Formats: sequence, structure tokens, C-alpha cells
Amino acid sequence: MHLRLRCTASLLAAFTIVPAPAAPGVPGQPPTTETVSGAPLPASPARELHCATLTIDSHIDVPANFATAEVDPGADSDAQLTLRKMDEGCLDAVFLVAAVGQDERSPEHYRRAADNALKMMAGIQRMTQQYPERIELARTADDIVRIAGTGRHAALIGLENGYALGGNLEQLRTFFDMGVRYITLTHSGHNALADSSVPIEELGDAEEEHAGLSGLGRELIARMNCMGIMVDVSHVSKKTMLQAIGTSRAPVIASHSAARSVANSPRNMDDEQLQRLAQRGGVVQVVGYSHYIRLNDPAKERAIAQVGEALGLTGPMAWARASNATLVEYGHRLVALDRQWPRANVADYVDHIEHIVDLVGIDHVGVGSDFYAGGGAASGGLQGWMDVAQNPHITAELLRRGYSAGDIGKIWGGNLLRVMRETAQVARACAQSPQGS
Ligand SMILES: [Zn+2]
Repeated sequence: MHLRLRCTASLLAAFTIVPAPAAPGVPGQPPTTETVSGAPLPASPARELHCATLTIDSHIDVPANFATAEVDPGADSDAQLTLRKMDEGCLDAVFLVAAVGQDERSPEHYRRAADNALKMMAGIQRMTQQYPERIELARTADDIVRIAGTGRHAALIGLENGYALGGNLEQLRTFFDMGVRYITLTHSGHNALADSSVPIEELGDAEEEHAGLSGLGRELIARMNCMGIMVDVSHVSKKTMLQAIGTSRAPVIASHSAARSVANSPRNMDDEQLQRLAQRGGVVQVVGYSHYIRLNDPAKERAIAQVGEALGLTGPMAWARASNATLVEYGHRLVALDRQWPRANVADYVDHIEHIVDLVGIDHVGVGSDFYAGGGAASGGLQGWMDVAQNPHITAELLRRGYSAGDIGKIWGGNLLRVMRETAQVARACAQSPQGS
């Protein structure tokens, strides 16, 4: 989850009119077709291949009022994920994420964080109850394959920020039973488990608090391993990440991160991190957040900061407490900035995939958009990939660069399925010899 930029349907449409990528095999060909986000993309070999591929997006955030009359994924809206857009973009499975911003570590704040996370998870479950003929809650890799085989979509649950555990690892069982299959150890801001890549000064964070994982964080990973919950190292500091890889008995994932040597953001992973992740069988799901894919021009960053200041959005706490109306206004003002400084595009995105493939091979990279299913929010999103209906654009760019159908299958889901299976295998081994855990 990132700062949410909201905008009206018409404004969203205004900057999601994008050229369709050139057909595969004709590099450099100028775009010939225009498509509006949400409208079916024209038939093409890329689309055909895309729709024949098992596809998983590992990171799409949901709001607390998900699957209510206010945010109904079964209705058409400007949300970056709706059921119709999943149909159009041939997205088989999605990890929907209960994301909790870091706040104080008091009993009251812990309780609130857990309540918020449970509310979002209940919303995800509610959606699957409201639309059983279209989507089903998946808890295993086999569930994903089975559900996709019936022509429906699979929803999985991720928890972003172990802070929601409230420092109480007994909560883990509750979240697992709700369906949680990965936990992002931190968000921005250190927590009781680990250091984040982005400390929050407002919360009193020093550069480091635990020099990586705390004892509690190590204990959490051991318990996650034995329960079959994947360890997600997006957002965490480099030390935390390397220690998590060393501590976990199962491969770890980065559910929404990119390559630092392509875009030098602290949220991205350097080559050493990517290599260590791959050596232990992990997978990095490349994030579709423009600033992590191609750093913003400093002038755009200043302009964004000014917009935030003008609306009182001056720090993480202000963001967490902002009214929806304020966020909508923020989005309106930022749309103008996007016109002046366009977002990164699909080719920039695939540059990250390509770097990771060149560095560690085809078996350790995937797709994690960081879209938002809350309606009108466009924090994640690139030119040509503003919602899940546009997923075939990624496949078209991969084809254009010579990736095979087998490669594309690994990127779009095969690699993540493998890690899910290995994680479940570790949990089974743990159950057989718990003393070995
Ligand atoms: Zn995030």
C-alpha cells in the first residue's frame, strides 16, 4: 500500500487512455490502437497467449469497506480491480491485501490495527460469498489451479504489516484461519518484529532499531514456516531481508518490489538482495508503482510534496487520518502533475523483470501490481497498465522482447505457485517433526 491518489472516473479515464502496445514481433512499430482502461483489449496473439496462461497478481490492496454497497467489486467502477476487469484482463488469481499503516505500539493502537486488518479480510471473504459463481477463496496452490480450471477467479489473502499481530504471535492462528497466506513483515516504519526500509521519524524511528529482525520477528518466521504462511520481505530493510532469508526454512517472497539497480529507491532491492533471494528459491513480484519503476523527476516530487502540504498531508499519521474527501482532492490535483510528468510505462516495468531475469534467471520473478480495489485510487499504476483489465499489455511487451510462452507462464504465476508449494511442504515437514522447527 502506498499513499492513495483518488480521482473521479472521468479523470481516471483521462489518463488511462493509452496506446496498445505494438503487436509482438514488430519491435518499434508505432501503436495503432487506442484503448480505454476497462474496455476489452483488441484480440491479438499476445492476448490469446495471456488468457491461456495461469496468471496471479500477488498484491492488490482492499479498503475496509470492501464488498459493501460502497465498494462492490461485482459492479463496474473506476477501481483498479473489479470482477469484470479480472475477466477482461484474464487474471486468474489475486492476493488481496489487508494493509495496515504503522502507528504507535500501544495496546489501543495494536487493537485498532488488528481490527482494521480483520475487517478487510472479512470484506474479501464477503466478496467470495456474494459472487460464488465468479470467485472463490483459495488457501493453497492446488486451490488456485482447481478454481482457475472452473473458469472462475481465485482470491487469496495477504496481510501487509506484521504490526497487526499486536506483538502477540498467538494472533497468527486467527489470521491463518481467515485465509492469510503471506505476511509482509513491516510497512513503512519499524515495528516490534523488524526494521523497515523507510523509517518514520514522526514515530520516533531511528535509522535502525533491531539491526534487522528482532527476536520476536525470528520467532514469527519460525511459526509462519510451520503454519504454511509465506514470508514477504517487501518494505523491510536490507538487513531484515537478508536475515529473513537466512532464518526462513521456506523460500521468501517480495510481494511488490522492484530492482534498485534499475530505479534507485530504498523500497527496491539491490543485486545482492536479489541474488540471495534467488539462491534460496524465492521470488520477487515486480511492483507497478511508477516511482519505484522510474524515479520521479525531482520537480515532480516537489510538486507532489506541495500538493500534500496544501492539504495538510504532511506525514504518515496525517495520511492515516485523512478524510476520503481530502484524498479525493489530493488525487484531483495530482492528475494534473501526471499530465506534466507522465508515469513510467509498461516497457519501463519490463526493464525490471528483464534485469532480474538477467541477474538470477527466469525462476525468481513475478507480478505484484500494488493496485487498489477501493475505487478511484490510482497510486499503483503505469502508463498502459492502470488496472487489471490491461494485464495483457505486460504479456505483449514480454513477447515483443522474445520471452517464450513457458517463460511468461513462470513470470505470471508459475514461480509464485512453486514457492507456495514449497512453503506448504515446509509446514508439512514441521508438523511431522515439530521438534525440528
Ligand atoms: Zn506496500
